[in-house]
Amino acid sequence: MSILVYIEQFDGKAAPVSWEVLGKARTLVDQLGGKLAAVVIGAGVEGVAKEAVSYGADVVHLVEDPSLAAFRIDPYAAVVEDLVKTHSPKIVLFPATARSRDLSAVVACDLDAGLAADCSDLSLVDGGLAAVRPVFSGNLLTTVRFNGPLAVASVRARSFPTPEANPGRAGEIVKSGPVAPTTGIREEIKSFEATATGEVSLTDAKIIVSGGRGVAKDPELGFKLIKELTDTLGGAMGASRAAVDAGYIAYKHQVGQTGKVVRPDLYIAAGISGAIQHLAGMGNAKIIVAINKDAEAPIFSVANYGVVGDLYEVVPALNAEFKKRLG
Ligand SMILES: Cc1cc2nc3c(=O)[nH]c(=O)nc-3n(C[C@H](O)[C@H](O)[C@H](O)COP(=O)(O)OP(=O)(O)OC[C@H]3O[C@@H](n4cnc5c(N)ncnc54)[C@H](O)[C@@H]3O)c2cc1C
Repeated sequence: MSILVYIEQFDGKAAPVSWEVLGKARTLVDQLGGKLAAVVIGAGVEGVAKEAVSYGADVVHLVEDPSLAAFRIDPYAAVVEDLVKTHSPKIVLFPATARSRDLSAVVACDLDAGLAADCSDLSLVDGGLAAVRPVFSGNLLTTVRFNGPLAVASVRARSFPTPEANPGRAGEIVKSGPVAPTTGIREEIKSFEATATGEVSLTDAKIIVSGGRGVAKDPELGFKLIKELTDTLGGAMGASRAAVDAGYIAYKHQVGQTGKVVRPDLYIAAGISGAIQHLAGMGNAKIIVAINKDAEAPIFSVANYGVVGDLYEVVPALNAEFKKRLG
């Protein structure tokens, strides 16, 4: 294999960013030669392995065991490291989710390889990986090259398009079990708490409507209006840290340097000033629409479209218009 891609799954469902990374890896392998391999770890996850073939993997290493049902760093890292030692890929790619970033760091450390974390682009230069990663809150882009024989990188969600799945595509699924002891693992998963069903994940969302401290006059009504617009557009709801810190909305909605980094097609910022720490989380959105009653607000300098006005009037007006047009 020339490239190995770790496919993150939860409860038998792959994180969509896994397919984006696999799709990009396919184009790199087509230039590099060799085989594109994927690894799926868990219990009862053969469906995910079959999907990996449909999304472009030539070989999928399916590593299943009840002890691997929930993500735990030691046994998962042991599997990936074993595959690298056995098959010597040049490049190992992970989605840059919270769990997979942890895993990529442990794997890179254990294998004494270089790691480019949270990349937004990948290419090949002289047959080696060149990984682009935003630094200083997204104000600079660095290109990371690797000196050693193995390059490890994690890739941000929505950096690449999801490839077209081809369910008829042929590929090999190689089944095996855990490589580390299944007892005495340092972490024990007691339970999982699911967020409300039906919510679109912020990091995967194509459309995000976010609210900031501008809702201070009536935060409950403000976020209700923002939620209504979000639902009309089928997107996810975000927030600034000021709104989170003020207790208007839960932290899971926070976008920015200390919140989620998002890359939607459309980001609507209502009552958000556009502080650098907020821009660090959404500055790469394809289209930014700002609604702010202060025409001098810094958010307008990054917005593609701006509405100078009161969000309590503009957001419901937009919602009514979208409802009319989207039926
Ligand atoms: C280490 C560090 C990490 C941080 N991490 C993050 C982070 O992850 N995410 C983040 O967002 N921030 C983060 N911050 C905080 C950041 O610096 C800003 O304080 C924060 O983003 C401001 O949020 P805001 O834009 O909602 O509030 P404000 O800056 O107070 O802006 C509110 C805006 O709403 C407008 N407004 C008011 N009323 C209305 C109305 N009725 N209609 C329309 N507009 C209205 C105002 O004109 C103003 O522009 C961090 C700060 C530090 C120091």
